[in-house]
Amino acid sequence: MRKSFILIILGGLILLNVLAWDRAFNNTQELEVSFFDVGQGDAVFIQTPAGYQILIDGGPNGVVLDKLAEEMPLGDRTIDLIILTHPEHDHYGGLIEVLEQYQVENILWNGIIRETAEFKEWQKLIKEKDARIIVAQAGQRIIFKTTYMEVLHPFENLEAQTSKSVNNTSIVLRLVFQDNSFLLTGDAFKAVEKELAARNELASDVLKVGHHGSKTSSAEEFIQKVSPEIAIISCGSNNSYGHPHEEVLAVLEKFAIRILRTDQDGDIKVVSDGTELQIINN
Ligand SMILES: [Zn+2]
Repeated sequence: MRKSFILIILGGLILLNVLAWDRAFNNTQELEVSFFDVGQGDAVFIQTPAGYQILIDGGPNGVVLDKLAEEMPLGDRTIDLIILTHPEHDHYGGLIEVLEQYQVENILWNGIIRETAEFKEWQKLIKEKDARIIVAQAGQRIIFKTTYMEVLHPFENLEAQTSKSVNNTSIVLRLVFQDNSFLLTGDAFKAVEKELAARNELASDVLKVGHHGSKTSSAEEFIQKVSPEIAIISCGSNNSYGHPHEEVLAVLEKFAIRILRTDQDGDIKVVSDGTELQIINN
């Protein structure tokens, strides 16, 4: 049975979609956010204190399946929510494999259309799945009992549009659990970061650094406004793009932000009890 869906319109301008999901789970009291080492790409797996499982991007290939198997209980084949930040290979190659293998209840994506075979496969699979499909737009808030996620970007609904700069259509999310927060920016470039900084309070404990540490992202004023304690860079070792760029590392170092990198640190798990963060990497 579909879970409840409430649409609230504030002042006729701001759309606030509240997905109030009600599901009984054993309460662990902790939020776990795992930044998987999937080589050159992004894959972030979230387990909320109430037991919701969320996968944001899936890296370029099936490596994500091994990572999920390590994190999820044996026999658990259901993921509550999959988020595709933007349809680029290093973000949804692996998600396609996840859709083939797992029951997926909800899919949040940016609605951008591509002309590639991989995109057609994505479209076919999300149609086949009996999942609720939501097109992301700033102002949406998804509530998982004690944890919530707010959509900060795209600023408008981009459903069925094409884009010359798919990276800049990335879904940007802020995940909040009591005093702790995580900012996840996909591959959005500096122009989007600056607009986000102008529109929002962005202060977060953990920042997933934009676009794998490329110098297209991590504008200094944005980093200053987010002011994270920890910056996580998801990139492949010896990748051909030279990610992370030294300019980005210099900006993070300037603000004395602790840097963790999947190419050097492997899988990085950040555990929050609502107040304190603990880093577990293997
Ligand atoms: Zn990417």
